[in-house]
Amino acid sequence: MKRVNILGATGSIGRSTLDLIERAPDAFQVVALTAHRDVDGLADAAQRTNAQLAVIADETRLDALRDALAGSGVRAMGGEAALCEAAAMDVDWTMAAIVGCAGLRPIMAAIERGGMIALANKESLVSAGEVMLAAARASGATILPVDSEHNAIYQCFDSRAPDQVRKVILTASGGPFRDWPIDAMRDITPEQAVAHPNWSMGAKISVDSATMMNKGLEVIEAFHLFPVTADQLDILIHRQSVIHSMVEYVDGSVLAQLGTPDMRTPIAYTLAWPKRMATPCPALDLATIGRLDFEAPDAARFPALALARSALVASGAAPAILNAANEVAVAAFLARKIAFLEIAAIVGDTLERYTPAAPDSLDAVLAIDAEARVRADERVKDCVV
Ligand code: NAD
Ligand code: MG
Repeated sequence: MKRVNILGATGSIGRSTLDLIERAPDAFQVVALTAHRDVDGLADAAQRTNAQLAVIADETRLDALRDALAGSGVRAMGGEAALCEAAAMDVDWTMAAIVGCAGLRPIMAAIERGGMIALANKESLVSAGEVMLAAARASGATILPVDSEHNAIYQCFDSRAPDQVRKVILTASGGPFRDWPIDAMRDITPEQAVAHPNWSMGAKISVDSATMMNKGLEVIEAFHLFPVTADQLDILIHRQSVIHSMVEYVDGSVLAQLGTPDMRTPIAYTLAWPKRMATPCPALDLATIGRLDFEAPDAARFPALALARSALVASGAAPAILNAANEVAVAAFLARKIAFLEIAAIVGDTLERYTPAAPDSLDAVLAIDAEARVRADERVKDCVV
């Protein structure tokens, strides 16, 4: 039996993870589940899976969680310290599926504890890549990428021959606005932005896919996860989301991982690693799909791509600032405070105006993250929708 924790159990990735675990009750034992504010979703999942512990990050909801779990035998806790306590429990496998830098401290607690960390939360790696990887080296934790592109690269990357890798090619669906002229993009609504053509995901990553900041964050994520330089990381628009990414070798071979766009495949890969497990995902039917299309990304309509790449090249504090400003801007867009095209503008301005020294610890990353949020928020207030 693998003992598992799910940080962010009520979200899109968390629910897909629970779906797989609940189909294999003899293989997995749930220890702790966490959520931000969804008491009912958390209590329901904790009872279904016989979890030992349920943690609600928003402490004001702890009483409601206690009520919902009364008589169930599941212990209830609340607040960020409790999240970290849950993350540090003795488990074999942790799903890190909290969205945004809010996940950073609990993910670090899990990494310091050791074991296998299935990492869905890309924001933590973008902001604190060096710090996280140093902690993983120190504890011996294994980080298994859940993000479909990185999971694909993980499956194709020949770690015996890292010097023979020429390129890593991250595929991108291009999001819902890949074919829109820039003029039409000014009036994009949150509803349009969260309706992704291929994947069903949480609101924040859906907006990131629409601006293509998601692919920018993923380039930085790939830089940390694999032994490659920034120049070796390419982006290719592939609208069907069937090829999840590719690795090109010096001999001309290109290895790809394909599948239907269903996150349960990469999640299952990390759950069963180093083995494989069956999933209910529909088999890939290429004869029905018929064709696969590819094109270069459009840097002019998607400035987030260049912003992310320049933050990667600048390194130091820049990726953490990029991420924090983006989180603030996406939240403001979803709250209808700013227009769609202002997301990248706010990220760009925050990066330009705030240039602190490189962080050398988790606390330093979090301080930069906090200050970048204040500055991005001031910039949001300058915008009038
Ligand atoms: P989601 O919004 O559906 O779920 C987020 C989860 O995090 C929820 O359980 C929520 O309760 C919890 N959470 C939110 N704010 C929190 C806070 N302040 N403190 C503690 N917990 C908090 O998001 P998602 O789509 O499941 O994405 C989760 C992560 O996985 C993101 O980092 C995203 O980029 C990444 N990811 C998602 C997908 C996908 O298909 N959904 C694919 C690749 C990567
Ligand atoms: Mg992805």
